[in-house]
Amino acid sequence: MDVQAGLLDKLFAAGHLVETGVQGLYGRSGVFEDVIARFDALITRLGGFQDAEVLRFPPAMPRAWFERSGYLKSFPNLAGTVHAFCGNDHDHAALLECLSAGEDWTGQQQATDIVLTPAACYPLYPVIARRGPLPAEGVLFDLQSYCFRREPSMEPTRQQLFRMREYVRAGTPEQVQDFREQWMDLGQKLIGTIGLPFTVDVANDPFFGRAGRMMKATQREQALKFELLVPVNSEASPTACLSFNYHQDHFGKTWGIETATGDVAHTACVGFGLERVALALFRHHGLDVTVWPDPVREALWGAA
Ligand code: ATP
Ligand code: ZN
Ligand code: MG
Repeated sequence: MDVQAGLLDKLFAAGHLVETGVQGLYGRSGVFEDVIARFDALITRLGGFQDAEVLRFPPAMPRAWFERSGYLKSFPNLAGTVHAFCGNDHDHAALLECLSAGEDWTGQQQATDIVLTPAACYPLYPVIARRGPLPAEGVLFDLQSYCFRREPSMEPTRQQLFRMREYVRAGTPEQVQDFREQWMDLGQKLIGTIGLPFTVDVANDPFFGRAGRMMKATQREQALKFELLVPVNSEASPTACLSFNYHQDHFGKTWGIETATGDVAHTACVGFGLERVALALFRHHGLDVTVWPDPVREALWGAA
């Protein structure tokens, strides 16, 4: 615990993260943002050969898409919904009264048609489905979004609002499995280039509750998720900075995505935790980016 608290305090003291009083909700310094932008650009350079279609969504998605995605079945505890005041003058007065009396005013809030995006790829699948059957070569997308997960923590690497860069592939099982294999290699090359120690291991998503235990075991048995882990908070429990996910036909079935031959499409995604990689860089190379090792500076900022 001391190690974790120590790292967060160091980041606050250096100004790289700005405290808000809420765990996992931070401001970022210009330098921190620059590191993220440079790493994001490095991913693009590495992935440039693939000719991915770039799409960007705001960090929220239609509630109807979210409901259909199945997220609430697996991760009800992590979801964040957007509520808003929908009342009249009378309700407004009641709200202000509660507020000034220090009482709960949020009873006035009603669910809107918007929820916060839990993973950058969630708004994509319905958009792919809407375009009709996939071309024979399948499709590939380049995404980046702030994502919300209700997982407050003292670890700077576990934030409630953080950015995820993703490549998402949809096509035949062979096409998406090849994509995932390729990125498991490229991901290791990428993290090696910026001088970070890492391991790669099979993993599972934090499925909720008793039913979730089975899903975790199945996901591991079938090796559907791999993570690239870097020690950040501690050596003993390294942090997942990249993940390589094979969804099989889950999203294809959920959204009715078809291959060119009319089969249910398979999908896979590679996700880069941008804050986590930035934090790993600060943890391993120091809080002052001007003295980071030359090869790392070259990889991120180009030759001096
Ligand atoms: P963890 O195992 O640490 O809970 P995860 O397996 O839930 O992470 P994914 O769902 O695979 O993570 O998300 C893709 C990437 O987003 C992760 O590899 C990680 O780098 C990043 N990420 C996930 N959750 C957070 C978070 N709370 N704060 C910062 N980055 C995160
Ligand atoms: Zn994804
Ligand atoms: Mg994980």
